[in-house]
Amino acid sequence: QYRFETLQLHAGQEEVEGTTRSRAVPIYQTTSYTFKDSDHAAKLFALQEFGNIYTRIMNPTTDVFEKRFAELEGGAAAIATSSGMSAIFFAIANAAEAGDNIVCARQLYGGSLTQFSHTIKRFGIEARVFNVSDASNLEEQIDDKTKAIFFESLSNPQIAVADVEGIVDIAKRKGVLTVCDNTVASAALFNPIKWGVDIVVHSTSKYTNGQGSAIGGIIVERDGLAEFFKENASKYTEFTQADESYHGLVYVDVPLPNFCLRARLSLLRDFGAAQSPHNSWILLQTLETLSLRMDKHSSSTLEVAKFLESHPKVKSVNYPGLESNADYKKAQKYFKDGKSSGLLSFEVESYEEAKRIIDSAKLFSVVVNIGDSKSLIVHPASTTHSQMNEEELVKAGVNPSTVRLSIGLEDPIDLIEDLTQALN
Ligand code: PLP
Repeated sequence: QYRFETLQLHAGQEEVEGTTRSRAVPIYQTTSYTFKDSDHAAKLFALQEFGNIYTRIMNPTTDVFEKRFAELEGGAAAIATSSGMSAIFFAIANAAEAGDNIVCARQLYGGSLTQFSHTIKRFGIEARVFNVSDASNLEEQIDDKTKAIFFESLSNPQIAVADVEGIVDIAKRKGVLTVCDNTVASAALFNPIKWGVDIVVHSTSKYTNGQGSAIGGIIVERDGLAEFFKENASKYTEFTQADESYHGLVYVDVPLPNFCLRARLSLLRDFGAAQSPHNSWILLQTLETLSLRMDKHSSSTLEVAKFLESHPKVKSVNYPGLESNADYKKAQKYFKDGKSSGLLSFEVESYEEAKRIIDSAKLFSVVVNIGDSKSLIVHPASTTHSQMNEEELVKAGVNPSTVRLSIGLEDPIDLIEDLTQALN
């Protein structure tokens, strides 16, 4: 078994491509694949043989990306989607149906909170909320209709570190699937599956891409989920009973990772949020340097956080890599060498002061994205979390005077100089 830095370059590309011997993974920019004859086509559709059918459901470039990502996360399989939001929706829609509920962390990316509190409600799925930092109010919200617990390992923008062990422990006792959004920590710094999480999702538009150049999402599942579905057969009937939309297929009877298989055969087939082969190719390039970039993002962010902590105009700094941070111990415990990624937020005196600083920064771009190689600055309350009312904002820990930074790969001295002039 190779180590992370080797896997991020090689995993999933089993042999140098047969026809051309191309070293780089080729872009298979095709919608469809020729069948040898009608018998071959029928066997592929009946899952008696595995092979490419149509790019909405699978693609050889995307396949290498999925296999590589699954290995980097320590999972059994992965399925790429066209965005992080579609990965999150598919993960929930694959676990729950009308009449069910999920329990999600209060501290989440604003788009996920909106999807859970408004959109999935229209599909008949209720979202309940728990505190991710200590999972104290999680257990009491779980009932026999609870199909998933959703949380971010390192939350955006509150930068709270999840009590992963506490959450997994409750989920295992209650027989509920855990879904962890690992976007901000990244596969290079944290692997939720190794801590007992069932499903990992990412917005690959962030650190996986790292250049702000491609939107994508991915779902990874741990090994052995079929056993979990069989143990909780009356709860997860979608996996244990015949799928009438797919020739009466019973997923737990298929010797392939069940969660991704159903997401592919049912959700990707019917909702179609497939990742383009070109974006899979871009993400394969950027994935090659993920661990190197995460090291630099983390060390520079710690430098900037220490600078801000000592600045008289800054009321508080939120970065779990700082010893003064409430989540410092959890960051040291879960993240590789305690490296805490590139996101930090800080509080200033007022909304006006936050806006003034954002408008005065020169090197930082005012952008709602995170995880870019270029440093970014944003005001969450009026942008990423603007769909939330005041009460929801307070609950999500987003204040009007919060400024969020995504620290890039520039020289941190230049970033600190820019912040010095912006704060003045
Ligand atoms: N999850 C997290 C933690 C995010 O920060 C984001 C986007 O900012 C998403 C999911 C959504 O991903 P995407 O923009 O790729 O749809």
